[in-house]
Amino acid sequence: MGIKVVKFGGSSLADAGQMRKVKDIVQADPERRYVVPSAPGKSPEYDIKITDLLYTLENVIENGGNHEFYFNMIRDRFVGIRDELGLTVNIEGELDHILERLLNGAGADYAASRGEYLNGLLLAEYLGYAFIDAAEVILFDKRGRYDETNTEKLLSKRLKSIDRAVIPGFYGSLPNGNIKTFSRGGSDITGAIVAASVRADLYENWTDVSGFYMVDPRLVPDPGKVESITYRELRELSYMGASVLHEDSIFPVYKYAIPINVRNTNEPSDPGTMIVPSIENFKGRAVTGIAGKKNFTIISIEKTGMNAELGFGRRVLASIEKYGIPFEHMPSSIDSLCVVLEDSKVRGSINDIIDDIHRSCEPDSVEIINGIALIATVGKRMRDSIGTAARLFSALAEADINVRMIDQGSSEINIIIGVKNEDFERAVIAIHNAFRDS
Ligand code: ASP
Repeated sequence: MGIKVVKFGGSSLADAGQMRKVKDIVQADPERRYVVPSAPGKSPEYDIKITDLLYTLENVIENGGNHEFYFNMIRDRFVGIRDELGLTVNIEGELDHILERLLNGAGADYAASRGEYLNGLLLAEYLGYAFIDAAEVILFDKRGRYDETNTEKLLSKRLKSIDRAVIPGFYGSLPNGNIKTFSRGGSDITGAIVAASVRADLYENWTDVSGFYMVDPRLVPDPGKVESITYRELRELSYMGASVLHEDSIFPVYKYAIPINVRNTNEPSDPGTMIVPSIENFKGRAVTGIAGKKNFTIISIEKTGMNAELGFGRRVLASIEKYGIPFEHMPSSIDSLCVVLEDSKVRGSINDIIDDIHRSCEPDSVEIINGIALIATVGKRMRDSIGTAARLFSALAEADINVRMIDQGSSEINIIIGVKNEDFERAVIAIHNAFRDS
């Protein structure tokens, strides 16, 4: 029998009704042996995530405020789920213990992790699976970095003898035993770690959308569905702002080429999106997805013959590095070079950087272009399909959008364009429409 690791997000576990759907999904496939839950998220009845309540509770305690309101809210939600499902977990006792530790300064990570911990206890009883506290098996080093080698060793050994288990997402422990969490949304990472440790055949990530769309559905009504996407394409799109999965959840499974299937708890018959190592085995659109972000600055430097001048690019980048600013892109031609930087990072130092470039590079001119949005059009098949760029730029021209910058990443799976912030939405729609049915 194969092994599937299944992770359920907060909205999939937000109340007793959602928990029932989760149980049906897990029981529908005996290969779904290891289950990683998030904390209860938003539901029609509650407009707030348990994790946010836990952070607030800790903050109120730290500032000597009256914590009862938040504590009761958290208790009522967990008790409500337990009672509705007829479970026996001693939520009240667990929460009294948690409160005592928080009053003794256990801290924000401990507080936040308790949502997953308590939800894990409930789900384990409900499914009849063993409960494994993530603090025992997910390890961080003393500097707070995830300890991949030791975790994988420990976890695979532990799970060899346990056939079916629930392992709460989002946290683990430091060498001194204190709780440490991943960044927000980190249960995705735990799911991937468990999948890697047992060398799962599949990592299923159950959420409240049926996988990925070619573009953010808030921008385009009825966008194209993405059936399959490679890890690399997903990284490019996540970097440019597309979010369904935590971006660090790719690394643990990448090594072992374990596919990830993003599925919808509320539409279990929808096959969702497969994230796979490579796409050689299937056909599809030339363009997989389009994502972008606003608010970049372009520094455009001109100097006749710069291509022949040794060290020119290095000196430009050194002037930027001096101010601790990373650069996003650097398209260049014979006599000009552009560096794209994030507005928020460059704001206070732009004039100093320009002075520096004048001193170290003696350019003919330097121009600053503010308010630029970057849009990435990503597709592994772009490399082999003729006319993709032509179609992209014709669509933009037809929509009367002026392209201020073009960069085709050397990976050849990505064409990045810069347009004015105010043209962003129109440009994304134009590109989507040009490739939706291709
Ligand atoms: N509950 C945590 C959060 O809200 C982690 C997760 O859901 O993945 O960020």
